[in-house]
Amino acid sequence: MADFHEFYPLRRHNSFGFDVRARFAAHVRSESDLLCALADPRAHGLPLVVLGGGSNVVLTRDIDALVLLMEIPGYAVVAGDDAYLVTAGAGENWHALVCRTIADGLPGLENLALIPGTAGAAPIQNIGAYGVELRERFDSLRAFDRHSGEFVRLALEQCQFAYRDSLFKREGRDRYIITAVTLRLPLPWQPVLGYAELARELAQESAAAPTADRIREAVIAIRTRKLPDPAQIGNAGSFFKNPVVAPGQRDALLARYPNLVSHVQPDGSYKLAAGWLIDQCGFKGVSDGPVGVYGKQALVLVHHGGGTGQDLLALARRIADAVQARFGVRIEPEPVVL
Ligand SMILES: Cc1cc2nc3c(=O)[nH]c(=O)nc-3n(C[C@H](O)[C@H](O)[C@H](O)COP(=O)(O)OP(=O)(O)OC[C@H]3O[C@@H](n4cnc5c(N)ncnc54)[C@H](O)[C@@H]3O)c2cc1C
Repeated sequence: MADFHEFYPLRRHNSFGFDVRARFAAHVRSESDLLCALADPRAHGLPLVVLGGGSNVVLTRDIDALVLLMEIPGYAVVAGDDAYLVTAGAGENWHALVCRTIADGLPGLENLALIPGTAGAAPIQNIGAYGVELRERFDSLRAFDRHSGEFVRLALEQCQFAYRDSLFKREGRDRYIITAVTLRLPLPWQPVLGYAELARELAQESAAAPTADRIREAVIAIRTRKLPDPAQIGNAGSFFKNPVVAPGQRDALLARYPNLVSHVQPDGSYKLAAGWLIDQCGFKGVSDGPVGVYGKQALVLVHHGGGTGQDLLALARRIADAVQARFGVRIEPEPVVL
């Protein structure tokens, strides 16, 4: 039976620390909890909101909905010839999962260390960092399909993963409630060291070929230097996605701004560094009452306390408008606005 609460405070369930309440909230610790919560007559007719760790959402107001707090545990490993398959319950903490797999001799997730949130949310925006995206380590997931009322398995090709995007942010939004994720960790393990900052960090320490654990530690060291800890300052990591532009537009920008930071994509388009664009507009370290831009990284918006999601969105709009006016490029928020 899911724990059910009315007017439930969500401040501890979102990494910005915005103080809003849910009309109803249910702690979901199993698939049967999920079915009970969905069938509960108290929330009948109300919209549904699914929350994992709340590290990629902006809560702008009290939520007149049933909020499902996904806390399903679970960890199982199957060894195959060319990969380990690791299945994690949707409520497992992502970073703890990364550490556990490595400690169990199952390398492959090390570049994705220290990303906050749950395993069940990882497919939503196809989490990625330091040269690896979830889709490269993904096998399938199990979800409750609200259209059919059945549990379904969705394989890699069905999830339509793209840069910080997936089926679950588009047609599948409000349709699937993920209860477990199966990761595919290929054998033999190959370290991914293409990300320059990571290679530099590892080179400083030892010339020996790095282990998965060393890569995990290096990723943690870099992230700890660059990103604010949500336990200290409210934030959701990178607030804006890096915009992708056509080669012609990138060339025109490069002619005007020789320091422009851009990376060519497999299809020939260019990803621009949103943090650089924002920095050029003078926003790094700027405060706007209770919200602001992190002093060490212009891509991260922060909440110092006492503010609202509306305050944060107003600042985000100012930043996006300034970038648009100067560079002719629209930057879009990465977190889900609720
Ligand atoms: C300091 C910091 C650093 C970060 N760094 C990175 C990074 O390097 N790379 C990166 O990709 N992200 C990063 N993020 C963003 C965030 O950690 C990830 O997006 C993470 O996957 C969100 O997990 P969550 O459980 O907190 O999801 P939530 O914020 O709770 O939810 C996010 C979305 O997923 C949906 N959702 C959650 N669980 C489920 C489920 N079980 N079924 C269906 N829908 C669900 C929610 O409805 C919502 O739409 C960072 C965030 C912070 C605070």
